Amino acid sequence: MKLVVLGAAESGVGAAILAQQKGYEVFVSDMGQIKPKYKEMLDAHHLEWEEGQHTAERILDADECVKSPGIPDNAPMVKALREKNVPILGEIEFAGRYLEGQTICITGSNGKTTTTSLIYYILEKAGFNVGLGGNIGKSLALQVAEGEVRDWYVLELSSFQLDTMYKFRADISVLLNITPDHLDRYDFCMQNYVDSKMRIIQNQRATDCFIYWRDDEYAQAEFKKREIAGSHVRPMPFTDEPNPESYGYNRKGVLSIDVPEGFSMRLEDGIQLHIPVNELSIPGKHNVRNCLAAAMAAITAGVEAETVRQCLKDFPGVEHRLERVCDVNGVHYVNDSKATNVDACYVAMDAQITPVILIVGGTDKGNDYSTLYDLVKSKCRGIVYLGADNQKLHESFDALAEENGILIADTHSMEDCVKACSMMAKPGDTVLLSPCCASFDLFQNMGHRGRMFKDLVRQMND
Ligand code: ADP
Repeated sequence: MKLVVLGAAESGVGAAILAQQKGYEVFVSDMGQIKPKYKEMLDAHHLEWEEGQHTAERILDADECVKSPGIPDNAPMVKALREKNVPILGEIEFAGRYLEGQTICITGSNGKTTTTSLIYYILEKAGFNVGLGGNIGKSLALQVAEGEVRDWYVLELSSFQLDTMYKFRADISVLLNITPDHLDRYDFCMQNYVDSKMRIIQNQRATDCFIYWRDDEYAQAEFKKREIAGSHVRPMPFTDEPNPESYGYNRKGVLSIDVPEGFSMRLEDGIQLHIPVNELSIPGKHNVRNCLAAAMAAITAGVEAETVRQCLKDFPGVEHRLERVCDVNGVHYVNDSKATNVDACYVAMDAQITPVILIVGGTDKGNDYSTLYDLVKSKCRGIVYLGADNQKLHESFDALAEENGILIADTHSMEDCVKACSMMAKPGDTVLLSPCCASFDLFQNMGHRGRMFKDLVRQMND
């Protein structure tokens, strides 16, 4: 059998190595430049590869194709493969053929990495033999190829990954939310994107579970449609509303999971888990939802409620997502460099309980900042602009700041930005890097921006 891999990054290289091990004749092709790390891996396995081109006759001769999630369906080579009826699948689908453990699969427009990491954290603390994969860390295919046999895998799945999954079945699926994203890949049709997310429950059986946020605009109705169409998966909705029929957190701020008898797949006893929301280690309403989803997944997998409770209090969070850096002169510094759009900054601001110095700026993707105005008015002591070109920020915030006595500083480097923040902030304030923008004007990527912020902040304590 001949297998061609399109796209030679984490998932593609993992799939190539696994395919070769399973006896396929493998060819790897990437239209762009392959990173040195991946070239070394391919060479170490004597895999054939090309970069900067797609050799059509070689590719179209394949029996199957594993496509990187980054390559859109309208790429010419993908179209050509489809015309020739060559099956195109993703790395998770391919690795899934050889997977022995059970899976917890997490998708959603926002919160995937946080929830996936939290579930993994809980299962590991509970002493489970657990692996992490999907859109995060080492590719699942490589883990399988390296012979790592796990009882459980926690997998973060993007819509692009779901699009190339057909037979794969999750034992526990988690859908956090569905909000418009990546619509350029879905013919600008929201329903197409929604259908992609709902693939998370395809193939699930009556003994499998589907955990989802019931208050989401789409999830409940879409699930019902699929239930009518014959899905037997066990629904486990959670909600922000106090409601005895489902699991959620109530208005008194208590995360609450009451698990009646027969609820979980493996536990016979009823479970009750109540945690005051202010004891959760990760802040904000959105994170309460992530914690609920994670707690339900972990309990369903068989983790003791007490372990879950402890983990929700201890979880260190994920780098660059409302990450606490340290306190300097009584000022809290928080790195939310991952907030590359206005929605993400909104939830970050909403989570703050002290006066805020907000750092915004970078490469603007057509942002409308007006949704932030109420939060800025009620929470900001100051705003620090950080970008190569801060013109739009001046236009968006200067007048509002002037009217409300909010301080403004204009900076073009992280050094100047951190200095400006430290001058504005008073003890008890929070300096929040939640920039609403991509980072490419001044930094390599959002990780680089976040690390530079953290380094400079920590240096103030040295
Ligand atoms: P993803 O992997 O889906 O991009 P992350 O866990 O990396 O999600 O979080 C990215 C950003 O999305 C966070 O910084 C936060 O602002 C926002 N976010 C996280 N969880 C949620 C949620 N449940 N609902 C809405 N927004 C969220």
